[in-house]
Amino acid sequence: MKDTSPKKRIYLSPPHMGGEEIKFVLEAFDSNYIAPLGPQVDAFEHEFSEKVGIANSVAVSSGTAAMHLALRCLGVGAADEVIASSLTFIGSVSPIIFQNATPIFIDSDRSTWNMDPDLLEEEIASCLKKGRLPKAVITTDIYGQCADLDRIRDICAPYDIPVISDSAEALGSTYKGRSAGVGAKAAIYSFNGNKIITTSGGGILASEDELIIKYARYLSQQARDATPHYEHSQIGYNYRMSNVLAAIGRGQLRILDERVRAKHRIFAYYKKVLSGIPGIEFMPEAPYGCSNRWLTVVLITPEKFGADREEIRMFLEGDNIESRPVWKPMHLQSIFKGCRVRGGSVCEYLFKHGLCLPSGSAMRTDDLERVVHAIKKVGSVIRRG
Ligand SMILES: *Cc1c(COP(=O)(O)O)cnc(C)c1O
Repeated sequence: MKDTSPKKRIYLSPPHMGGEEIKFVLEAFDSNYIAPLGPQVDAFEHEFSEKVGIANSVAVSSGTAAMHLALRCLGVGAADEVIASSLTFIGSVSPIIFQNATPIFIDSDRSTWNMDPDLLEEEIASCLKKGRLPKAVITTDIYGQCADLDRIRDICAPYDIPVISDSAEALGSTYKGRSAGVGAKAAIYSFNGNKIITTSGGGILASEDELIIKYARYLSQQARDATPHYEHSQIGYNYRMSNVLAAIGRGQLRILDERVRAKHRIFAYYKKVLSGIPGIEFMPEAPYGCSNRWLTVVLITPEKFGADREEIRMFLEGDNIESRPVWKPMHLQSIFKGCRVRGGSVCEYLFKHGLCLPSGSAMRTDDLERVVHAIKKVGSVIRRG
């Protein structure tokens, strides 16, 4: 008899609580600090800075808000251009538009999928010729793999162009032994529900530069001047993280290393079981770092595999398994039509053929087996020619 009961949905990367979060949340309740700001936020910022190794940080409502504050603090405004990676999530670059500045997109390096430093160098040389240097460069640590930050900093240093590291996907990753984001002028992190650890929604802006964080903190609280009445000499935002969510973050931070190990276990499983199959290739790992493997991502060569990326994704969906195409490059988005892009074919290829596999840190072996079984089955069902 055919089993018609609906199968449990396997999500791409759902939230995964560790158990200690509730303790800190109760602390927040017991002290009646159910408001933005409060001791949990202070403690979360402190513990985060300690864990990552960046002296100052401010907890905010999202990673996008953190990026917006970073740009504002670095003085990005209407007349400015900002260079960013085309292969990224919108939250990385929409703040450029919030500031009425203009993005310039750079293609990925095929061996890391991150911003290609050679193309960045070319673009900056071209900017120099035009007499208009970018106000900042935003690198994205894609799917947890760190961008080549030292090389990118070396390219930017002669012109004093600050580098902002979008490490939203890379908490727990390392670059030359340092935590993702360390070494950038400012770094942003996200605690959105699908990230490696979550506060259900939130972000952090971190910097060695105390003045940046001080100014960001001020802007994130409606730019209230130091007066007893509400005096505002600048326009700010309501971007602060709430004390309750910071409590969740404190619990999550304590199990970050465990989550990284779980993501590595998932990657290792997929790699072992799928890497022999023709037409499946895994996202490469750069020699300079260790990715947290936030998501396991594969590239499909349809001619060899027998089905294309979309056919696989739809087939998995039919089995109630969530997977997702690689980020659609920013230079292909209609909202960025007309923006400058240097290169583009590499990230276009990654978008066309890349598939993010379910990588939730709570996945059990039978979940993984179900995904792998479905992928193997696509071939026999769809296989062409
Ligand atoms: C998640 C993410 C962000 C920030 O997202 P929020 O949902 O605003 O926290 C920024 N950049 C990248 C690359 C991301 O993946």
